[in-house]
Amino acid sequence: MLPLHSPPLWRQIQRKNFTNIEKLLEFLQLPPELSAKVLKKNSFPLNLPLRLAEKIPKGTIDDPIFRQFVPLVEEEMTGSEGFSCDPLLENSFKKTPRLLHKYHGRVLLVTTGSCAMHCRYCFRRHFDYFPEPTFTEEYQLIADDPSVNEVILSGGDPLSLSDKTLRTLLENLSAIPHIKKIRFHTRFPIGIPERIDDEFIALLNSCRLRIWFVIHCNHPNELDEDVSNALERIQKSGIVILNQSVLLKGVNDTPETMAALCQLLVDKGIVPYYIHQLDKVEGAAHFEVPEREGLQLIEKLRRLLPGYAVPRYVREVGGDLHKTPLESS
Ligand SMILES: *Cc1c(COP(=O)(O)O)cnc(C)c1O
Ligand code: SF4
Repeated sequence: MLPLHSPPLWRQIQRKNFTNIEKLLEFLQLPPELSAKVLKKNSFPLNLPLRLAEKIPKGTIDDPIFRQFVPLVEEEMTGSEGFSCDPLLENSFKKTPRLLHKYHGRVLLVTTGSCAMHCRYCFRRHFDYFPEPTFTEEYQLIADDPSVNEVILSGGDPLSLSDKTLRTLLENLSAIPHIKKIRFHTRFPIGIPERIDDEFIALLNSCRLRIWFVIHCNHPNELDEDVSNALERIQKSGIVILNQSVLLKGVNDTPETMAALCQLLVDKGIVPYYIHQLDKVEGAAHFEVPEREGLQLIEKLRRLLPGYAVPRYVREVGGDLHKTPLESS
């Protein structure tokens, strides 16, 4: 029998993440001329689950998983036009360092700074986080505002928190009468599907509030059988899963790849919700796809897919009252 204090399996798996660039380069068997393109030191460190690293073919950097998670020297190109450290002007919507109230009816709670993996294009890469997951002030602010009916658990990744912490969070939010919905914004199951274990499913089932899941998946290679099985367990609890993607150069910027992703998602009962235009965050300029190309891509998707499989192409504009649609009609 396992001792009671032994950490859950998913935590043990998480400890095997690649965080050392040299070790990863060795694992990927990159020749010196390609290793030279990899950034060795970074303030937003490498963090790559083993299972994702195993999906990268050896000896190449031309791979959608590689590009999303392995830092390239291009990250050091600074000063690209319009790129900054707080492109969404989120600082101006902060009620507390952890509570963002930007849109009507819903608030976003930055529950943790930790993620299962570090995505190189992440717009939160320059943020300061607060280690202690206690939210006393935030609960009070939410309770004091009856216009709020939905709390989005974001981060970082809320699934980085222990089930115990999540249980407390859900219980406290459930106690606020005007809160009807909890939304998880998570990429965790893509990197460590073992996170969706019996205990977590039991936690979801014990919550009186309606739960929605929004996962973040950018390429069909991310959605393998283990990931699908984990997501199916959530769906079998009666929870709808949506997906958001970021349009990324060299990852998913062809109509074929994006159509394959959307098709795969709807085959698994996951609704393609948003395709985000890249947030202009310093260090991510090499991922940018021009809007005009994004619009052409969406147009092609419309010809290939049923209407419900075509995501909304949006951009986040500081100060707008909703995500800004990029399509005119
Ligand atoms: C994206 C976002 C939301 C959620 O927007 P939806 O359109 O409801 O998905 C809420 N708050 C903030 C601060 C956001 O950035
Ligand atoms: S999982 Fe989400 S929050 Fe975490 S690094 Fe990736 S994009 Fe950023």
